[in-house]
Amino acid sequence: MKPSVYVIGGGAAGFFAAIQCAAANPALQVIILEKTTKILAKVKISGGGRCNVTHACFQVPEMSRHYPRGERWMRKILPHFMTTDTVAWFQQRGVALKTEADGRMFPVTDDSQTVIDCLVGEATRLGVQVRLRADVQQIVPRPPGFTLHLRGGEALLAGRIIVASGGSPKLEGLAWLQALGHEVAPPVPSLFTFNLPGQAITQLAGVSVPQVRARLGGSKLEQTGPLLITHWGLSGPAVLKLSAWGARAIAELGYQFTAHLSWLPALTDHDLRQQLVQLRPSLGPRQIGNRNPFGLPARLWEFLLEKIAIPAAKPWREVGQTDLNRLANLLTNDTYPVQGKTTFKEEFVTCGGVTLAEVNPETLESRLVPGLHFAGEVLDIDGVTGGFNFQAAWTTGYLAGQAAAKAVLA
Ligand SMILES: Cc1cc2nc3c(=O)[nH]c(=O)nc-3n(C[C@H](O)[C@H](O)[C@H](O)COP(=O)(O)OP(=O)(O)OC[C@H]3O[C@@H](n4cnc5c(N)ncnc54)[C@H](O)[C@@H]3O)c2cc1C
Repeated sequence: MKPSVYVIGGGAAGFFAAIQCAAANPALQVIILEKTTKILAKVKISGGGRCNVTHACFQVPEMSRHYPRGERWMRKILPHFMTTDTVAWFQQRGVALKTEADGRMFPVTDDSQTVIDCLVGEATRLGVQVRLRADVQQIVPRPPGFTLHLRGGEALLAGRIIVASGGSPKLEGLAWLQALGHEVAPPVPSLFTFNLPGQAITQLAGVSVPQVRARLGGSKLEQTGPLLITHWGLSGPAVLKLSAWGARAIAELGYQFTAHLSWLPALTDHDLRQQLVQLRPSLGPRQIGNRNPFGLPARLWEFLLEKIAIPAAKPWREVGQTDLNRLANLLTNDTYPVQGKTTFKEEFVTCGGVTLAEVNPETLESRLVPGLHFAGEVLDIDGVTGGFNFQAAWTTGYLAGQAAAKAVLA
């Protein structure tokens, strides 16, 4: 009988690890155990059905900075399987990727099924077996291997194991890994939008601003980028990035906090006051509501003036110093009480998972349980939106698969 490597989880990381393992050591039997009836379910729905495979960022230090959890780890492991390797790997298997203006990379087909077909085709070619409805409940180390206990009572003997079971919304979902002695950072959601129920700004739904700085009240956490006003609150990259970097802090606040927005992030309050004083004479007779000197969307400009009760019909030259100061303050530090969050439909991840200190970054092998490897979102690594989470799945899957294959060879 061939020595076996069991991969727990038929998602992106599990498939990539299984493929790497089987390719590196054809003498192995690699088996993916998937608890549901569907493989690669998240790949299918990812990126709005287009699958944002990776990000066009080709420098390791810069790439690593997109991971609120795991930045230092990614810096270490990305050189082994970087974005360039992802692009080449898919390209060599007939999946050309294209880059969008914001750096996100998608298959040229704009269809996530292309990525699924590629992964499944490659796994099949390499003889990887997939078992559906195989829900692993317990891993028992029996050196030099393991016994895996499935729901329903079946027990399997494994040489090595790669755990690629993804994120779990609840800590209890990771209890079977804690039972092995592993510490798990409690899971909380990342990549969500901010709810502003009943707030007047939601009447501007659909308005977007190219550069806004969003800050979490009471902290120094802030992110700059495009912002989108929705009918339930605030969304767009600035908000999503802030939700990722502030995932744990925001969870601790019970998703009730103040969001501070600077609509003109390039300017300080002081600079803006000076600019307004200089601009006022040249704008003279024009009505403040009709003449917005900063290129903000007209509906937003009118809304902001109304918020501080400056009449839109007032000529610029009649706007007094106090109102100019209030306007400058509003434009650089506008505040909104956030009450709750909404999961971002395009991409969603869990912050938390198996603590990195107990995993070897060279091999993704547990430092506590020899022969047990990890890959993907089950680890305490998560990225911001834009293809960074799949890149983490490819890189960790690559290392775990290769290492498991070599170890069984040895
Ligand atoms: C809607 C949505 C869109 C997204 N879009 C993007 C995107 O475009 N780009 C991007 O980079 N990221 C995206 N992400 C994030 C990305 O999908 C995940 O980070 C990635 O799928 C993680 O891969 P994984 O293999 O680690 O986990 P998963 O994809 O979650 O796979 C884990 C698998 O393990 C199985 N499993 C769990 N426990 C067991 C068990 N005990 N026994 C057997 N099987 C088990 C699960 O059923 C699942 O199939 C998106 C996420 C969502 C939810």
